[in-house]
Amino acid sequence: MYLLRRFSVNHARGMMRIYNTLEKGLIVLQPLWQKIGYERAEKPVALIEKGVKGLLFDCQMCGQCALSDTGMSCPMNCPKQLRNGPCGGVRENGHCEVKPEMRCVWVEAYRGRGLLGTDQSKEVFHEVDYQKIGQSSWLNVVKKHQAEQAAAAEEKSTKQPKA
Ligand code: SF4
Repeated sequence: MYLLRRFSVNHARGMMRIYNTLEKGLIVLQPLWQKIGYERAEKPVALIEKGVKGLLFDCQMCGQCALSDTGMSCPMNCPKQLRNGPCGGVRENGHCEVKPEMRCVWVEAYRGRGLLGTDQSKEVFHEVDYQKIGQSSWLNVVKKHQAEQAAAAEEKSTKQPKA
């Protein structure tokens, strides 16, 4: 839904706030995901994610969400699937070279980043891991958080002096 996608960038601040709250909530529910099992939770969570984010951002379920870095403009809607910035073909009116009826997702990303107060000189680079395509990026965030926690706990235990 192109119009809703543009609405989301226009309201990047509010969207980001909701997104961050949701992400924190999913992380808090980590024990529940573990209990259910990530594999079992994957399908229903991915379905919900696809429904919600498909509507708001034209999400293509890449499984590794970049919205927080791209001003809430999904880079997977770029016909060339560029994840690190616009190609050289952006039209003078800010529209896409391949789909002239659509604004370049990266022009939109810079606009959204501006609304969020993101440092525009900060590089954006989100290489696509094709193994994650179709997965829930929400659950992937939880899994990453869990792995980081486990690594930190492991490091702490190895640093503790032995009695
Ligand atoms: S970056 Fe990936 S997960 Fe995020 S909205 Fe776009 S396709 Fe969906």
